Amino acid sequence: MVSIPDYVSFREGLSRPLSVYIHVPFCRSKCPYCAFNSSVPSGEDVSTYLASVSRELDLWGYMASGKPSVRTVYIGGGTPSVLSVGQWETLFGLLSRSFDLGGLEEFSVEANPESLSEDHLSLWKTIGVTRVSIGVQSLDDCELKWLGRLHSSERAVWAVESSLAAGFEVSADLMFGLADQSVRKWHRSLSAMVELGPHHLSLYQLTIEPDSFWGKVPPSQTLDGYGHYRWAQWYLPKKGYTQYEIASFAKEGRWSRHNMAYWTGRDVLGIGPGAWGYLGGVRYENQGDLKAYSLALKNGVALSYRERIQGAAKASERAILALRTSFGLDLERFSSDFGVALSRRLRDALDEFPPSCIERDGSVVRLSSKGMRIANALWETLLWGDDDGI
Ligand code: SF4
Repeated sequence: MVSIPDYVSFREGLSRPLSVYIHVPFCRSKCPYCAFNSSVPSGEDVSTYLASVSRELDLWGYMASGKPSVRTVYIGGGTPSVLSVGQWETLFGLLSRSFDLGGLEEFSVEANPESLSEDHLSLWKTIGVTRVSIGVQSLDDCELKWLGRLHSSERAVWAVESSLAAGFEVSADLMFGLADQSVRKWHRSLSAMVELGPHHLSLYQLTIEPDSFWGKVPPSQTLDGYGHYRWAQWYLPKKGYTQYEIASFAKEGRWSRHNMAYWTGRDVLGIGPGAWGYLGGVRYENQGDLKAYSLALKNGVALSYRERIQGAAKASERAILALRTSFGLDLERFSSDFGVALSRRLRDALDEFPPSCIERDGSVVRLSSKGMRIANALWETLLWGDDDGI
């Protein structure tokens, strides 16, 4: 059940042009470091999933009293390219039935090289997908094998080249901090990827989730990725990629509009098992387990968690998200939105951070390249609870 205040907030969020995230909780196999909400589908899982998503969309549509207008769509996972072309047609049919897509600025889908096909690319072109984000992770076959990935570097190159040739904006994920990955080896993957010419790169340090296989049976060796990250920050701008967020580099104007919606606190409707959303100031998470999600939808939306983000927690979130990006945080606006006490607290935290890590431009403050490398230390001082400092 949704409480009356949450219902009012959700309706308010749904009345504004919003971003939509759809979670596809399936992968061809489970990577040993990953604890994302995904599993290898069996039996009727995919049809249960599609029927449940249809029901969830109907419920949000009912709450909105119509078709909400959508700015960006992101279909992520998991591995959305595990869905067959027919299943994609069904999913897209649900989207166009439920939303006004007339003002769509970006339509992104995630794909992994082993399951992406020419047929996916052709269909995506016809249904209006604009951007394909590919989980390459490495262009070194030994590293891919060590990560438990199913694709080869050759297949990853094919996925990037084919997506570019089909006319999509392309983003590639690469991972650093892997066993035996020297900065020289990292550079080989990075430079080979740059040569392929994707519009956008997302770089992640390998993180082993506590609930993953490696969280229980750790691998023999992992590396600190500090030097790898520094190298990317030095190398990529020379190749025309600007760092616009802690993990994201893009060619001119090719940043992810959808991700910017998260970082600027805009409304995001999350659909699917385990999806997160933020609507009208309320953050929520759906039931993660497919069966529980599907069952819950028979009685209403399948929320497992919701929280009104307000007070100091909202201020903290605004500061951290804005400082993740090169667009930075406007301190004057922060002060007028959250008051003098929290503004002073923020300024004190920033003053304690090494001056070489901060750049100031009028009332806007942002992290320098060096600041982005050690941002975690700043987040610790900016994590405030609901009524902290008020
Ligand atoms: S890392 Fe990606 S491909 Fe691997 S199990 Fe997790 S979601 Fe699936």
